[in-house]
Amino acid sequence: MNAALISTERVRAGPSVSAVDGRIVWDPVKSLWFSSHAVLGLLALFAMPSVQGLAVFLLLSAATLCAGHSVGMHRLLIHRSFVVPPWLERILVWLGVLVGMAGPLGMVRAHDMRDWHQRQDVCPPHPSHGAGFWRDFWWQVHCVFKLDSPPQFVFEREISEDRFYRWLERWWMLQQIPLAIVLWLIGGIGVVLWGISLRIAVSLFGHWAVGHYAHRTGHQGWVVDGLPVQGFNLPGIGLLTFGENWHGNHHAFPHSARLGVEPGQLDPGWWFIRVLTALGLARDVATPDSQQAREGLRRVDSR
Ligand SMILES: [Zn+2]
Ligand SMILES: [Zn+2]
Repeated sequence: MNAALISTERVRAGPSVSAVDGRIVWDPVKSLWFSSHAVLGLLALFAMPSVQGLAVFLLLSAATLCAGHSVGMHRLLIHRSFVVPPWLERILVWLGVLVGMAGPLGMVRAHDMRDWHQRQDVCPPHPSHGAGFWRDFWWQVHCVFKLDSPPQFVFEREISEDRFYRWLERWWMLQQIPLAIVLWLIGGIGVVLWGISLRIAVSLFGHWAVGHYAHRTGHQGWVVDGLPVQGFNLPGIGLLTFGENWHGNHHAFPHSARLGVEPGQLDPGWWFIRVLTALGLARDVATPDSQQAREGLRRVDSR
């Protein structure tokens, strides 16, 4: 079973590594972090409804999910699909940390471990989103998949030796505090709960839900033959997910900064990168044809 494990850029699988033997265990920190924000977020929604709170929630969600998570964390730090000046990269990654999911190293590790699992001959049900709705929700948002003999995870030095990223990794939860103080000054406890707790709970739930469906069903423009898990596009929610819904395209062209690659596929994250490029702030932006097609890639337009 261990004979032919594939290694990726950051995940090195030696002969003793197993990609399937392991346990799904409750992660108290992750679980309580989400649950407390969900409870406080519901409190804000039902006990402290306010237009100001809603505006802050929408504005901060858009900034942290689009510029932070999708562009800064996913397309830039994880995939290096374009280049920006170091100061701007740090701002975008910090915005991504504000989403409230993990620190920069934790995000890179979670993304690349899942990707590594999905490239093997057999992918266990946790990293493949193989379970049904509620079980997968429990597994992904409240638990971790602990391998008995995990591969070695190697960060590039630009990430692991960056003092700012290491500081962010250590204190990622506390990044909400300066924002909370500003929100408190703007509108008191109600606005804090709308702008922090409700936003974190909705972002984490939404991120999980997109990941869940995007590995199970939807539209496909391409498939990657020989893999146990495929990505799917989830049409209709491009604006809501800032382009991350085009996950079938992302599996086809993981190096590409553009996710909505076909006509009509709305991709706000890509528009943001176009603005950065026009301002002279982003360069070397990768698109699907920037690299040779990945092995097994086959056009299947299912529309
Ligand atoms: Zn990715
Ligand atoms: Zn995927």
